[in-house]
Amino acid sequence: MDCIFCKIVAGEIPSDIIYQDEEAIAFRDIEPKAPVHLLIIPRKHIPSLADLTEAESSLVAHMVNIANQLAAKEGISASGYRLVINCGEQGGQLVPHLHMHLLGGRHLSGALG
Ligand code: 5GP
Ligand code: ZN
Repeated sequence: MDCIFCKIVAGEIPSDIIYQDEEAIAFRDIEPKAPVHLLIIPRKHIPSLADLTEAESSLVAHMVNIANQLAAKEGISASGYRLVINCGEQGGQLVPHLHMHLLGGRHLSGALG
């Protein structure tokens, strides 16, 4: 499958992987928009949030839990951070493999769109 994040999961494209378990991995965004900018993704190819089935929905809670742990590890738990999942074209999703952004380390804009 021609999916850049599946290739990162498979180790076919190098990335700065900082966390992995059976369900998910996390790595640094290649074009960071903040001092801390990590991506948390499921190993499974789920194209977007809109494709997530109810049976798979616990995966998102797992991703939030990973993000919280990584935020603590990156030292931004107290200062604050933002978790973002873009969904679909108008939601600003460029890579069609479900992913959660963890952004922090600076004061983020209040804009939501
Ligand atoms: P989206 O707009 O789909 O929510 O975000 C996709 C994110 O993936 C962007 O922030 C982009 O910088 C990041 N990205 C795209 N290709 C790669 C890659 O090959 N490696 C890494 N580490 N990040 C990538
Ligand atoms: Zn994929």
